[in-house]
Amino acid sequence: MTVHLVNPSDLSFGTAVITPRWLYVIAAATPSHFGEPIIVDETLDPVDVTRIRPGDMVGIGIHTSNALRGYTIGVEARSRGAWVVFGGIHATLFPEEAHERGSAHSVVKGDGDVVWARVLQDCHDARPARVYEGGRVGADRFLRARWDLLPPDRYMWGSVQTVRGCPKHCSFCSVWRTDGQEPRQRGVDAVIREVVELRRLGFRFIALADDNFYPVTLQDLQTAARKSDPHRLQELQELRDERFQLMAQLAKLPDDLVFYTQITMEAAEDPAFLDAMSKAHIRGALVGVESVTEAGLKDIYKGFNLWGEALVTRLQAFKRHGIHVLGSFIFGLPSDRAETFDATAALAERADLTFAQFVMLTPFPGTVDFAKWETEMASAGASIDGIPITRHWLIPQEHRPKVYTPHPTLSADEIRARTQAVWDRFYSLPQIWARSRVVTSLRARLAFLLISKLYRQMYANTGIATDSARTARSARWARWLARPCRRLFVTAPMPHLQVPTS
Ligand code: SF4
Repeated sequence: MTVHLVNPSDLSFGTAVITPRWLYVIAAATPSHFGEPIIVDETLDPVDVTRIRPGDMVGIGIHTSNALRGYTIGVEARSRGAWVVFGGIHATLFPEEAHERGSAHSVVKGDGDVVWARVLQDCHDARPARVYEGGRVGADRFLRARWDLLPPDRYMWGSVQTVRGCPKHCSFCSVWRTDGQEPRQRGVDAVIREVVELRRLGFRFIALADDNFYPVTLQDLQTAARKSDPHRLQELQELRDERFQLMAQLAKLPDDLVFYTQITMEAAEDPAFLDAMSKAHIRGALVGVESVTEAGLKDIYKGFNLWGEALVTRLQAFKRHGIHVLGSFIFGLPSDRAETFDATAALAERADLTFAQFVMLTPFPGTVDFAKWETEMASAGASIDGIPITRHWLIPQEHRPKVYTPHPTLSADEIRARTQAVWDRFYSLPQIWARSRVVTSLRARLAFLLISKLYRQMYANTGIATDSARTARSARWARWLARPCRRLFVTAPMPHLQVPTS
């Protein structure tokens, strides 16, 4: 029985930005007596189904946007006599759908790290269960990814996870509902070992693929102290201390390493944390700014963010500590008006952001927003090709509409056009060139320009494009730019790099 692990994608680029970590974690969860799994990342190349033989096992990980492609592969694999198992966030949310549409024998809900070996054994014994509850495994059971199985010369960035879960509860985000609100922090040694392994292979840029790198804020500590809750206070303090221990170890690694993470802007109020990040070579962070207005933040239960000039000051604090911010903004919040778009573009310029993304409010499955939207749309009964709009990911790509949360005063077309205009303004040549001053040499500034354009182009594939011709054009561009870009990120391997002592 050969094990195949497939990351589905409708588009293949030959080169990809970030290593799809889940493939290599599940490879690590595959007991050695089943042999080395065949790993297929379709963002590189499409799956070759002729390699799937009767009795093989095909594991397919899906999120909402690649679910339909995953189901196509599942049907094909089962018709070839293979055992078909789905996992990932979308399969966790819609296990029955994976059975009905993807010909699944089994669906794994939650984390696959621990349960995977049992799934394989059950398939091998021809008695797979319909559903496996993987649950939320403890951080001490997170597996180290099998980076030794990576194909050479295909990815720009490595990826390592240090924490799962986020204590917040933003209405548009499914993380806190799927990964939980209690942060599960991985041991320092396990993280450092993986980073060293990736640097040995030549990866300089590594994404810390965390839900929220700053799970304990100063305010959390103050609140626990005020409530005279010593147990909770100690728990939080220990989590915070562990973050500092991790960053102290990262700081001992070679200077050419560059880490990038995802963090809430509350970290800007914590100079000791930002200093430690900076020493740890964490040079960039995605910060969910979402809205520049107080009303907008309330719309999405993100009251812990700031707005207006206080927001500008907070964002600038990252840059002062040498951390470049990719600011993430959402348009189409109920309180947004026509003037919100220009105000957002202007703030993004003033806040010293190095990169930015502007997305339209979308009801993603698993979120509070989706549940509300689903109820509203179900009563309207809209469908395409017989598929209800509330299951839009099942509509064939060529007919699939972009689905956005309806707005009380602005039409979807107006929001889309205004969002596009903000993208165009932020990524105009003069603006990119001005921002490229973050690096000094002409060569580095040109590289910055190239990367900015690539980012814009790749994002257009998934975020903004509204027709297949435009998607194909964007994909061609991205394919063309990706290969030279990769050379900017990887470097000479360091096969003898040692794990630093504590
Ligand atoms: S958007 Fe960010 S801060 Fe909000 S719940 Fe999701 S991961 Fe946490």
